[in-house]
Amino acid sequence: MSQGPEVLIPTSAAEAVELFGTGADTAVVGGGTILIPMLRLSDARPARALMLHHAGLAGISETGGRLTIGAMTPLNHLAAMADPIAACVAHIADLEIRGQATLGGNLCARNTDAPRGDLQGAMIALGASVRSVGAGGERTEPAEEFLANRDDRLVLDVSFELPAAGAYAYLDRAHTHEYTALAVSAVRTSDGAIRLGANGAGPHGLRLPSAEAAASDHAAAGSAALADVALFDDAIASAWYREKTLPVLVRRALDQLKEAA
Ligand SMILES: Cc1cc2nc3c(=O)[nH]c(=O)nc-3n(C[C@H](O)[C@H](O)[C@H](O)COP(=O)(O)OP(=O)(O)OC[C@H]3O[C@@H](n4cnc5c(N)ncnc54)[C@H](O)[C@@H]3O)c2cc1C
Repeated sequence: MSQGPEVLIPTSAAEAVELFGTGADTAVVGGGTILIPMLRLSDARPARALMLHHAGLAGISETGGRLTIGAMTPLNHLAAMADPIAACVAHIADLEIRGQATLGGNLCARNTDAPRGDLQGAMIALGASVRSVGAGGERTEPAEEFLANRDDRLVLDVSFELPAAGAYAYLDRAHTHEYTALAVSAVRTSDGAIRLGANGAGPHGLRLPSAEAAASDHAAAGSAALADVALFDDAIASAWYREKTLPVLVRRALDQLKEAA
């Protein structure tokens, strides 16, 4: 009979960091909405499961216009925030899942037969920094860099400056069974810069620098975005469909951003 993992339940952030160590053979359990079914249904048997529920990693604080959100903050606690976060969260799963799923789990979610981790694009557009620990110690880095190199990291929190305006444009089709095949988040920062992030356009959330550079012309920005992505086929959309719709979503997100206060 196969043996279950050793279950670790830290009661502080410091203890969670110590128990995580380098993250070797350790499954970090956030809300568990992906991980628990995956562990039950697959042959994956990590040696250790690090349960974060009592680690004090949930909560939202603001200092000098900068927001910090703990990794264990449930998604439904983000529902009243400004766009792109609010609009993005509203389209993640359902009320029950959003009450259990966490920001850290969403940032670390990986695509399977559908894109997951919808907040990744929103965090990139917000210019968020991700604070994590693992081999080499603590690191704070832009969300896009974290996403490209997130193996064996324990996310502690995410922080960003409150934006001047935000927008979210997404593909909403009944056949995708609540998963969003493709979405674009747009943010105007307090100093007037435009930032764009996409989900469902690559192996994880991606920044759209070519589209940002062309942002004064919304249609041109849409076309330019195709240079920033790595489109793929999955169970809910083809690369062809994503190629046709990404420029439209970029344009719509920029149109919404222009109209936003
Ligand atoms: C019916 C249904 C619909 C869904 N719809 C959507 C959707 O529309 N959009 C979407 O994005 N997702 C969707 N999901 C997937 C999932 O619910 C969300 O992505 C959720 O945010 C994952 O968070 P979690 O806390 O439950 O993650 P978990 O299941 O706990 O973990 C997910 C991954 O992240 C890792 N992890 C968790 N916390 C941390 C941390 N602090 N540091 C490092 N690694 C960590 C885990 O080890 C695991 O690899 C859906 C799920 C279901 C069941």
